[in-house]
Amino acid sequence: MSILLTGGLGFIGSHVAASLLEHGHDVVILDNLCNSQASVARQLELLCAKPIPFYEGDVRDNAILATIFSKHPIAAVMHFAGLKSVAQSATDPLLYFDNNVGGTITLLQAMQQHGIYQFIFSSSATVYGIPQYLPYDEVHPTCPINPYGRTKLQAEEILADLAVSDKRWAIASLRYFNPIGAHPSYTIGELPNDQPNNLMPYINQVASKQRPFLTVFGNDYDTKDGTGERDYIHVMDLAEGHVAALRLIQKSAGLHTLNLGTGQPYSVLEMIQTFEKATGQSIPMKIGPRRQGDLPIYYACADKAKVILQWEAKRTLKEMCESAWKFELQRQSLFK
Ligand code: NAD
Ligand code: UDP
Repeated sequence: MSILLTGGLGFIGSHVAASLLEHGHDVVILDNLCNSQASVARQLELLCAKPIPFYEGDVRDNAILATIFSKHPIAAVMHFAGLKSVAQSATDPLLYFDNNVGGTITLLQAMQQHGIYQFIFSSSATVYGIPQYLPYDEVHPTCPINPYGRTKLQAEEILADLAVSDKRWAIASLRYFNPIGAHPSYTIGELPNDQPNNLMPYINQVASKQRPFLTVFGNDYDTKDGTGERDYIHVMDLAEGHVAALRLIQKSAGLHTLNLGTGQPYSVLEMIQTFEKATGQSIPMKIGPRRQGDLPIYYACADKAKVILQWEAKRTLKEMCESAWKFELQRQSLFK
């Protein structure tokens, strides 16, 4: 049996594919390449030394889903295919709801038609919104503050109704915190578009002299050093969390909503210092104004995943920085 990964050539999907392959699973990948490159499939094949069925197509296309479900013995689907820019979701909400919510509905309908009921969904800590308390646990109220977060919450609500409607559904909705880093082969990693929005890819581009300095978005927050704090998680820990979630849904039906984070927040300044120490590169920076819509601090309560998945994030911030940088050094020779 195989696992279908939608969006499996993207940052998180490709690392989950590598982990699944390392654990002896077969994978099939569907990706429309709107934010990834086909050469990632080649790198995955080199890593696992076997061919990986890859379909270039859209998760909203029922015909391609029918082809995949007819041709391959798919036991479970992991749904990474989604758009993830908070800023773009505010300027083009229809695109985001169509892709992220519409895509999820089309996929679930196709699964139902083909009798496949095991599903893992890429949700996000953004579903929580302004913290009423920290760390966010899974029963913290959900009130996202941007359209991107609302697409994730709407998809979660659909999944909750689906799990109630038919007891065959076994679903894990995984709320990711801030994944960074790269596979230990350094042949897959994060491939941002030209101007990265997120901190780690931006730091990488400053370290590799593609950008002159990092702008720190505000140093007047009520946090340990005034800069924003986040719960960064190594993408390989996140990937292993998916392998554990697959084990869970293989034996336990219903909807399981779980945070995937470390429980440990780090500030922007701590991140810069750790990166500099881990890599020997210096990161010139300037303090700028706050970024609109940024929360000062949020991080996960990671206890539920520990109990339910028997999984916890193990890798340190230093390891995250080192691996991100080592991938950056190889990236230009591997990808265009
Ligand atoms: P990514 O952009 O690197 O990967 C997403 C992949 O999905 C890309 O390869 C893209 O080409 C593909 N895709 C998008 N829409 C598609 C469609 N309609 N049909 C087929 N393929 C499509 O993003 P990522 O960081 O790997 O994120 C994966 C998932 O996790 C997304 O759903 C994202 O919202 C969610 N998530 C990401 C983060 C993060 O910080 N990276 C945090 C929380 C949640
Ligand atoms: N950040 C920053 N400069 C950048 C990018 C991000 O200071 O160029 C800060 C941002 O304000 C936040 C933290 O780094 O406090 C993490 O930002 P990111 O966009 O990576 O994650 P998110 O805010 O979406 O959780």
